[in-house]
Amino acid sequence: MTGRRRGMIIAMDGPAGVGKSTVGGLVAKALGYKFINTGEMYRALTWRALEESVDLDDHGAVVALAKRLAWEFKPVEEGGITLKTFLDGVPVTGQIREERVSVNSSRVAENPGVRKFLSKLQRELGEEGAIVMEGRDITTHVFPDADVKIYLDASPEERATRRHRQLKAAGQDVDRNAILAAILKRDLNDIKREINPLKRASDAMIIDSTRMTMHEVAESILRRVRRGKKDAR
Ligand code: C5P
Repeated sequence: MTGRRRGMIIAMDGPAGVGKSTVGGLVAKALGYKFINTGEMYRALTWRALEESVDLDDHGAVVALAKRLAWEFKPVEEGGITLKTFLDGVPVTGQIREERVSVNSSRVAENPGVRKFLSKLQRELGEEGAIVMEGRDITTHVFPDADVKIYLDASPEERATRRHRQLKAAGQDVDRNAILAAILKRDLNDIKREINPLKRASDAMIIDSTRMTMHEVAESILRRVRRGKKDAR
C-alpha cells in the first residue's frame, strides 16, 4: 500500500451476528471515517444472481455476472458515513437481508473468482484510508497491513440471544434454537472455506464481546486507535 492516506485503515473480522457493523459504525462515526460492511457485497451479488436465475454452482457464470454489473459504494443519505452497495445505479439494501440471500451467500462466497473480484473492489475502496471495513477476510487477506486489526468474537449462544432479541423487538418471534443452529452453520461454512476462510490474524487485537456492550467494544477499539498505529510505516 503506497500513496498518501487520508486516515487509517481499520480492518475488522469476526463470525456472523457478533455486532461488527454496529461497532464498526460507532468507531467510524467517532473518527469521521467511512464504514463498509463487505458482507453486503457478497449478499448483493447473491441477490442479483438469484434474480437472474444464474446457477450459483456455475462459478464462471457468477463471476461473469459480477463483472457485467456496475458497482458503486456510497451513502444512501446525504452526508452519511456508511457506504452501501449500488448495482447498476440502484441501492441494494432491504433485498439482501432476505432469507434466500442469507442461505445462499456462502455458496457465492466460496467462489474463488468472486473473492478475487470483490477483494479488488475492497482494496480500491480502502486504499485512501479513513475507513473502517468489516467482513471475514479483511485482516487476513484484503488488508493484512491495515493500521489497526480487530477480531471481534462472542459465544454462539450470546450471538443467538442478541439476534433473537433483535427479531423479537421487530415483531418476529423466531425460535432461538433455530437461530443458534443457523449461526453455527454459517460459522462452519466461513471457517472451513478453502479460500480466505475466517480466522484470527496473529497480529489482530482479539475482543470477546460476550459480556460487553457494543459501546464498550467500540471504546476499546478507539483506545487502541488513539494509541497509534500497529507499526511505523
Ligand atoms: O457479514 P454477512 O454475514 O452479512 O456476510 C454475508 C456472506 O458473505 C457470508 O456468507 C460470509 O461468509 C460472506 N463474506 C465473506 N467475506 C467477507 C464478508 C462476508 O465471505 N469479507
